[in-house]
Amino acid sequence: MLYVLIRQIRRQNREAQQRLEAERQRLDTALNNMIQGLVLFDASARMVVCNQRYLDMCGLAADLIKPGCSFEEVMRHRKVTGSFVGDVDEFCATVRTNIANGQVTEVVTPTIDGRSFSIVNQPLAHGGWVATLEDITERRNLEQERDRNNAFLREIVDHIPSQITVKDAHTRRYLLVNRVAETHFGTSRENIIGKTALDIFPPAHAQVIAEDDNMVLESADGFFKDEHRWLSHITGEHYITSRRIGIRDQAGMPRYIITVVDDVTERRRANERIAHLAHYDALTDLPNRVLFREQIERELEKAKQGQQFALLYIDIDEFKSINDSLGHHVGDELLKTIAGRIKACLCEGDLIARLGGDEFAVIQTAIRGISDVEDFVASVHRAIRQPCDCLGHHLSTDASIGVALAPRDGTDLDQLIRNADIAMYGAKAEGRRTHRFFEPEMGAMARARLTMEQDLRQAMTDGGFEIHYQPLLDLNSNQVTGCEALLRWRHAERGLISPAEFIPIAEDTGLIGELGEWVLRTACMEAAKWPDHIRLAVNVSPIQFKNISLALKVASALDASRLKPSRLELEITEAVLIGDDEMALAILHQLRAIGVRIALDDFGTGYSSLSYLKRFPFDKIKIDRSFVSDITVDGSATIVQSVVNIATSRNMTTTAEGVETEQQRDLLRELGCTEMQGYLFSPPKPATELRRLLGPSGEPALVRA
Ligand code: C2E
Ligand code: MG
Ligand code: MG
Repeated sequence: MLYVLIRQIRRQNREAQQRLEAERQRLDTALNNMIQGLVLFDASARMVVCNQRYLDMCGLAADLIKPGCSFEEVMRHRKVTGSFVGDVDEFCATVRTNIANGQVTEVVTPTIDGRSFSIVNQPLAHGGWVATLEDITERRNLEQERDRNNAFLREIVDHIPSQITVKDAHTRRYLLVNRVAETHFGTSRENIIGKTALDIFPPAHAQVIAEDDNMVLESADGFFKDEHRWLSHITGEHYITSRRIGIRDQAGMPRYIITVVDDVTERRRANERIAHLAHYDALTDLPNRVLFREQIERELEKAKQGQQFALLYIDIDEFKSINDSLGHHVGDELLKTIAGRIKACLCEGDLIARLGGDEFAVIQTAIRGISDVEDFVASVHRAIRQPCDCLGHHLSTDASIGVALAPRDGTDLDQLIRNADIAMYGAKAEGRRTHRFFEPEMGAMARARLTMEQDLRQAMTDGGFEIHYQPLLDLNSNQVTGCEALLRWRHAERGLISPAEFIPIAEDTGLIGELGEWVLRTACMEAAKWPDHIRLAVNVSPIQFKNISLALKVASALDASRLKPSRLELEITEAVLIGDDEMALAILHQLRAIGVRIALDDFGTGYSSLSYLKRFPFDKIKIDRSFVSDITVDGSATIVQSVVNIATSRNMTTTAEGVETEQQRDLLRELGCTEMQGYLFSPPKPATELRRLLGPSGEPALVRA
């Protein structure tokens, strides 16, 4: 019985031993299969067990590290193998203190070969602790790589010059913002991340943002673009485009909203500027031809309902000469001043435009009759005629104004514009400084004028001009005292054309400068061949007085021909002195200083104001033909008498123009007139004929007086 019992106990012990052994082996296997190194220390910090992984990781030999080794010994061995590089004593003390306090010690320690171990020392309930060792080199490398990548991406996103934000699609909280967003939001990313738009922006702005977010989430393609004005509480008014992209997860649920915002204020302003330039003149900021045409169209629509309006074409007289002589900057200033002055004449509803060059146009609306237009034109003329100071130059200007009335002169845009233009040319043909209403027969005149303008330009290069000379006779001595140079144009089809016909065109087109200079030089050359006491008279256009270098040109012509200055007489008309033209006056004084004589031509026509005689001390007055032809019939004799008296009192001589009869000559002689010029003695003659007439001494061979 006892034997049986003993056997039973032995068997039980054996079985228990076997179970224990199996359990130990299972534990060993489990321990050795762990990917972490594991080591168990008892309450006296002696090693109980460690797995193979621990030995491998730490490079420890199994016969060196055996159960019973102290914690410090293990660590010192690790120090030798390089699997621990810190201070052994310090590390061991820290762990022991923590274990004693029931605390877990978690550290990451490097190894000598650059790997990283994560060590966790976990206290056990009945004393001692278990240390696990994990090689986290790979994970760390990956983490570092990920951090580097993140930093790289953040850097890139930060440098994109657009505002970029990413929001959670559900909570609408900001997850990412770049640097531009910080500027736009007016705060740092730390104050933005985790917040919603409502936390950052005023409610109205937040509302707009929320609506746009909804739009992208509702859109089928996950994209939404919008451009709108944005009044920032930080940076003021802007125009922005905002593009939103909705990112969904694999199940198709919205995850993120990416928003890219660009400030398009500059682009929009540039577009607005371009649009403005397309419709407005850059110099004066008045509507240009394009916009003006649109405006006329609108007025024509109203005209259909019975509203009349006037279209005025305003051309600045002699502008080209001012521009050429004083430079574009002065011309530009003048145009700006004139633009402002015309504008100041407008009433509500009237429109103004600069059509280009020196041409302006005005629509006068709500007119009741011609007198309204007449008054308006007069006010525009008054405004333009005011002398003006431009960059140190005191300038006088005038304008030729053409008027077409709608619907009377046209119900169609182009027709109305054409007719206003024709009327303006009509005003120019009348000698400028005036206005004309459109008349149907003006069309043919305008066409003829255009043809002549083209022919004149051609003649300027091909030639075809010649100068005839008409003698001036002293009424007392019957001697020829001088000759007037009179320009002729020999037209291929029309024969000789009168200067009265082509000089105004040469003036309008600016060709007069070149033409006048040619006359001056050619006539001086010719006069140099005449006897010494015979003077030369040359006509100078008012337009030539808009060129500051006129006196220089005269001096140069005298110099080239060796003609004495005292033998040259320049004939000017009152138009030169109109409008208190300081430049013209200065040129006259320069000419006088050279020694040239100045005669006032056509006295009695045009403005006929004696005040011009006060403005400049002329050497001679030429009494216009119209007085001479009527001298025997009406009161012209009285007028001539008073002109002669005034002239004598001021030391001026007088020449009567267009003397055709002996009766006229005798009467003029009686009235005390100094000289005569006219067909009675001689018409203008070609140079060679005149030379014959003068003879070697200048004694007229054919004096019939
Ligand atoms: P003007 O300076 O008053 O010249 C006198 C005009 O009267 C000339 O006309 C001449 O031929 C004309 N005439 C002379 N005697 C008589 C006469 O007895 N009876 C009549 N009926 N006419 C007479 P023309 O040559 O046709 O010149 C017309 C105007 O053209 C000139 O008037 C002058 O203002 C202008 N002109 C002529 N040549 C030039 C020039 O070289 N430069 C400029 N700027 N103007 C010129
Ligand atoms: Mg003359
Ligand atoms: Mg004359």
